[in-house]
Amino acid sequence: MGKPTGFLEYQRLSEAYEPVTERVRKYKEFVARLDDDQAAVQGARCMDCGIPFCNNGCPVNNIIPDWNDLVYRNQWREALEVLHSTNNFPEFTGRICPAPCEEACTLNINNDPVGIKSIEHAIIDKAWEEGWVAPQPPADKTGKKVAVIGSGPAGLAAAQQLARAGHDVTVFEKNDRVGGLLRYGIPDFKMEKHLIDRRVEQMQAEGVRFRTGVLVGADKLPAGIANDARETLSAGLILAEFDAVILAGGSEVPRDLPVPGRELDGVHFALEFLIPQNREVAGGEQNPISARGKHVVVIGGGDTGSDCVGTSNRHGAASVVQFELLPMPPERENKPLTWPYWPTRLRTSSSHEEGCSRDFAIATKAFIGENGKLTGLKAVRLDWKDGRMSEIPGSEFELKADLVLFAMGFVHPVGGVLDAFGVERDTRGNANAATEGERSYATNVPKVFAAGDVRRGQSLVVWAIREGRQAARAVDAFLMGESLLPR
Ligand SMILES: Cc1cc2nc3c(=O)[nH]c(=O)nc-3n(C[C@H](O)[C@H](O)[C@H](O)COP(=O)(O)OP(=O)(O)OC[C@H]3O[C@@H](n4cnc5c(N)ncnc54)[C@H](O)[C@@H]3O)c2cc1C
Ligand code: SF4
Repeated sequence: MGKPTGFLEYQRLSEAYEPVTERVRKYKEFVARLDDDQAAVQGARCMDCGIPFCNNGCPVNNIIPDWNDLVYRNQWREALEVLHSTNNFPEFTGRICPAPCEEACTLNINNDPVGIKSIEHAIIDKAWEEGWVAPQPPADKTGKKVAVIGSGPAGLAAAQQLARAGHDVTVFEKNDRVGGLLRYGIPDFKMEKHLIDRRVEQMQAEGVRFRTGVLVGADKLPAGIANDARETLSAGLILAEFDAVILAGGSEVPRDLPVPGRELDGVHFALEFLIPQNREVAGGEQNPISARGKHVVVIGGGDTGSDCVGTSNRHGAASVVQFELLPMPPERENKPLTWPYWPTRLRTSSSHEEGCSRDFAIATKAFIGENGKLTGLKAVRLDWKDGRMSEIPGSEFELKADLVLFAMGFVHPVGGVLDAFGVERDTRGNANAATEGERSYATNVPKVFAAGDVRRGQSLVVWAIREGRQAARAVDAFLMGESLLPR
C-alpha cells in the first residue's frame, strides 16, 4: 500500500484550474496536473483496502490501489504498465471521466476521497512526455479481417485490442476526423484533440487502418446528425469483405422538443453548436452559430448542457441560463445510503463556475419570435411528487432568449444503420446484445457485434472503452476459438 498512515497525515490536493477570467478567453485546457511529488503524496493517501471498492466503481476496473502505491514509491513506469493493463486511453479518462471510482473510495465515507483521477492524469501525461508510450505491434498476424464501424472511444479501444491480437483491423468513420464525440462533441477546453491524434498514430503503427469520410450501412441520416461522408458502403459489402464486424456508431439521435416555435431561427440541437466549434478550433471554418452578445438558454442539465454553457461564455454571451426538468438535487448526499454507488447531488462543473444561472424543475412550453427569429420562450414551473411531475398553476413565465440549445440527451442510435445489418434493437432502440455469457456483445446477426453507446445508450467515455475492450475479446474468441485478451 501507499504510506500506512498517509490518509491520516495528508489532505486531498485537487488539480488547480486557471482563473475563470483567463480561461474563458481561449479554448485550451486549463487544468494543471499534479507534479510528481504532489501525486506521490496523493498516492500515499490510499489505504489499500481489503476490498478495493474503487476498482469495482471504475467501469474499466482500473487497478487503482496498485498504481497509487507505485506512484508513492516513485515507480512511474510500473504504474503506467498497471494503468494500461485495464485502460487503453487513460489520458482521456484522466481528463473527462466523472470519476465514479472516487465516489466508491472507502476514504470518501468520512473524509475526502483519494484523488484517483488526478493520479491517473499524472501517470499518463508523464508517460507520454518521457516517451514511454510506444506502439505494440503484434508478433504474429492471424490473417483475419475485422471492420469497426465508428471511431469513438468504443471503436478505438476495440480496434487497438484486436490489432494487438494480430488481426487486420479497419476503422470506418463517416466524419472527416477520428474520435467520435471525443473529437466532435467534447470541447477542447475539456480535452485537446492532439491527444487523439497521437493515439491514432500509435494505432496506425500497430497496424490499424482508418477510413474517414465513409458512411456504412445508410444512404442518409436523420436531421441533427453530423455526416461528412464522401463515400457510402453497404452493410452487405462490409459483411462480404470482413470476418467480423463491430458496430460502434454511438447513440446519435438527439432528443427534440417539438413545442410551438421549434422552427424559429435560433433554436438548435447542442451538437449543431458544439461540433462546428470544435472544427473552428481545429482550424476550420467559423462556427455559423454565434452566442456573442446573446441571451442563451441551454435546455438540459448534463455534460452536453455544461459544454454548451462553457462554449457560450467563451463566445461572449450576454447571459447564460440552464434549465433542468428535474428538481434540484441535494447539495450533499446521504452517504450511508449511497456509498459506494454514484450519488445524486448537485454537481457544479467548471463551466458552471464560469457564469451560468441554473433553474430546476422547469418545462419549456413554447418558443416565441419575430420575423422567424427567436426572441424568447415560455416556460412553467413543475412540482415533482413520487417521481411524477405536474405543472404549478400560475407559475408560467417568459424569458428573453436569442439562442436556445437542446441538450436533453440522445434517444438511440440511427435505426437505419442497424436495420441495414439486420440487427435487432432492444426496447430503447439500441443494438440488442448481452454483455455476459458465451454470446457477449454478439448481435442476432452472425459475426456482427456491438459495443459502446450504440449498445448501452448514451453513456460515458469510460464505459465505451470498457465495452470496446470486452467486445474485442469476444470477437477474438469468435475468430480464434479462444482469446488471451483481458476482459
Ligand atoms: C457534448 C458531449 C459531452 C460529453 N462529455 C462527456 C464527458 O465529459 N465525460 C464522459 O465520460 N462522457 C461524455 N460524453 C459522453 C461520451 O462522449 C460518449 O458516451 C462516448 O463518446 C460514446 O462512445 P462511442 O464510441 O460509443 O460513440 P461515439 O463517441 O458517439 O462515436 C461514434 C462514432 O461513430 C461514427 N458513426 C456512426 N455511425 C456510423 C456509420 N454508419 N458509418 C461510419 N461511422 C459512423 C460517428 O460519426 C462517431 O464518430 C459527452 C457527450 C456529449 C455529446
Ligand atoms: S477511468 Fe474514471 S472511474 Fe476509472 S479510475 Fe479513472 S477516473 Fe476513476
